[in-house]
Amino acid sequence: MGIQKCDSCQCQFTWKEIQKTIRWNYKPLVCRKCREKHQITVQSKVLFSLSIAIMLFLFSLANLPFNFRIPVMVIVFLSVLISFPYFAKYKAND
Ligand SMILES: [Zn+2]
Repeated sequence: MGIQKCDSCQCQFTWKEIQKTIRWNYKPLVCRKCREKHQITVQSKVLFSLSIAIMLFLFSLANLPFNFRIPVMVIVFLSVLISFPYFAKYKAND
């Protein structure tokens, strides 16, 4: 586990660079050294949506008072978003 490196030059991507690509519907990740474009893998997209869905489902089972639901959803979403760069996999474009 860890933040991915560039497929062509092994330059370490940063958490911030990956964060920027998640928003705006998964923009390609461009290496700052060699300019190689990387696309997020389908598995990473599925993992991202699935982990949010599973966590929201678990919280819905917890039968929280209505007032707590919105903040809990926000926290769930943010925590998945924050940890996402450590799990996301990118592939260099051919
Ligand atoms: Zn590179």
